[in-house]
Amino acid sequence: MPAGDTPQRITELVLPSCAPVSEIADGLFAKKNIYVQLLRLDQIDPELGGNKAFKLIPNIIRARASGHNTLLSFGGAYSNHLHALAEAGHRFNFKTIGVVRGDDGQEDSHTLKFAVSKGMQLIRVSRQDYRRRNEAEFIAELAARLGQFYLIPEGGANDAGRNGSAQLASVILNSLLSDMPDEILLPCGTGTTMAGLIAGLLALPISNRPFVRGVAVLKQGEFLRSGIADYLQTLTDSNPTDCNWVLDTQYHWGGYARFPAQLAVFVREFERTHKIMLDPVYTAKMMSAFYQRVTEGMYKPGSRILLVHTGGLQGRIPGRM
Ligand SMILES: *Cc1c(COP(=O)(O)O)cnc(C)c1O
Repeated sequence: MPAGDTPQRITELVLPSCAPVSEIADGLFAKKNIYVQLLRLDQIDPELGGNKAFKLIPNIIRARASGHNTLLSFGGAYSNHLHALAEAGHRFNFKTIGVVRGDDGQEDSHTLKFAVSKGMQLIRVSRQDYRRRNEAEFIAELAARLGQFYLIPEGGANDAGRNGSAQLASVILNSLLSDMPDEILLPCGTGTTMAGLIAGLLALPISNRPFVRGVAVLKQGEFLRSGIADYLQTLTDSNPTDCNWVLDTQYHWGGYARFPAQLAVFVREFERTHKIMLDPVYTAKMMSAFYQRVTEGMYKPGSRILLVHTGGLQGRIPGRM
């Protein structure tokens, strides 16, 4: 599907089966003789789209099947996940509760204002309490206070989220106008999307399976590797070593949500040249990592690369990008 068509809108609890693809033509890529495409998850659904939709929809299906009418999850003030969750709750008739990191009385971000406008109830907790978000005792305290809810971990990082992300393998197959690429590149926060994508690709014959490269956007992202590997290990009917993947941890630019001026310069130049917008937290770092790798000659001539635009454009900071 060529990019620029009317964006798909998610109107039912069904995962998208395809997404637009843009070719990125650049003098640098021509010189290195590599072919670069971008899978536009950002164009699937402006408010619910991006990779978050793939993690949320299976969770919402489970919530509905188990009779819940309230969804609760966690995030920071600029969370793409809470943004998508608020929209999904509004669209599919769930009450939503967002537990937000930081109770220091700062003015609401545009993300949180959007969430509230979609009916999300915000619970602000201290950074200390926020660290307990995966503890059973903390969840029990929240339930005592707020009543029954279906819990979605921060970022949609659970099995349902990985299952949904596995669908990305089919999305890629259905959307590419050409053969499978040699390498797929995507940004990683929790690694949920990457784990699911690798799992989904295991359905392909091994000779046709692309290499998957994740770009960790947080500092000291090495711990994400064991999370991905452990998950692949649990997939009984396949040998996880059959799918080649790597997680690069040196492209974080100082840490999660750090957006140094030099990165902003890269983003502005990229957006101006290619008319494709990037988000500051994830896709900016993936894209700059890719340009760096190409410049350093890391790809053989003739390589075909697919980058995944995971969305997140709601997180663009007015005045900074
Ligand atoms: C959340 C998010 C990611 C990271 O996804 P994980 O599954 O947590 O690794 C990447 N890109 C965008 C735009 C996101 O919002």
